Amino acid sequence: MQILDGKALAQKIEKNVASEVVKLKENRGRTPGLAVILVGQDPASAAYVNMKKKACDRVGFYSVTHEMPEDISQEAIENTIKMMNQNPNIDGILVQLPLPPQIDTTKILELVDPAKDVDGFHPYNVGRLVTNLDGFVPCTPLGVMELLAEYNIDVKGKNCCVVGASNIVGKPMASLLLNADATVEICHIFTDDLKKHTLQADIILVGVGVINLIKEDMVKEDAIIIDIGINRAENGKLVGDVDFENVASKCSYITPVPGGVGPMTIAMLLSNTLKAAKQSADKEEA
Ligand code: NAD
Repeated sequence: MQILDGKALAQKIEKNVASEVVKLKENRGRTPGLAVILVGQDPASAAYVNMKKKACDRVGFYSVTHEMPEDISQEAIENTIKMMNQNPNIDGILVQLPLPPQIDTTKILELVDPAKDVDGFHPYNVGRLVTNLDGFVPCTPLGVMELLAEYNIDVKGKNCCVVGASNIVGKPMASLLLNADATVEICHIFTDDLKKHTLQADIILVGVGVINLIKEDMVKEDAIIIDIGINRAENGKLVGDVDFENVASKCSYITPVPGGVGPMTIAMLLSNTLKAAKQSADKEEA
């Protein structure tokens, strides 16, 4: 069994991004900029935003966080996004989800300029992903593909079982795998007999939010396990959706939690923002 070390790869990617930023500043006078919109006091959201901000600082990006109260109006968030769409110092706009119930999240995400949509949540970019055209791809599944590539794992022709079908994890994960010529199955809360599906899989990619959902008897010998879940266990530790202790010895590769997919998500946010900044510089210079 080999560990897929997302932490190490994320550090390597960060280094590359940082040196690209230096070049972009020197040669084109541009500093990539990321704007984050954080609504409310949810500690997990605040922690994620803080990690993203620190990562931006490490690679030399300009970043700004717009913190808004829980009872903010739809109009106020929309106005902030419109401002960021117009701001030439901002290349990427990220709306930290979830938003409070009074807010129409779809409308908010649709307002982000697709050229600044570094989270890849705008329907324009979703459509480009599904049709296998270049665009912005959601950071978590993009990070999984990078991690697989780093370890020379080719998904072509492999049976992949994606467990979880959200717009930010499962669905884009499935699209990326399909674009890379895998045979893809998507399971979710209403899937009957999950084990029947996971047992057939060469690669299981699970992002659900249920501790120990994937157990030893659900995994075939030498399978590859990608654990996207992040859960807080009773003892306060971060754990994934896979019963790591019992599954690890059975598979050929596995991602740990923490240190697997999580750091890759942040690394992909940085590389998406760099890509947006370069594309914006290209447009300006054209
Ligand atoms: P979500 O609640 O939007 O979606 C959960 C999905 O899991 C749904 O499709 C649901 O049908 C499915 N599901 C729920 N219970 C199930 C069960 N018992 N069996 C099979 N399917 C089931 O959640 P999300 O935003 O997609 O996040 C999923 C998990 O991934 C969470 O643990 C989240 O913290 C984690 N996550 C991790 C990263 C990262 O960087 N590693 C990024 C985003 C989300």
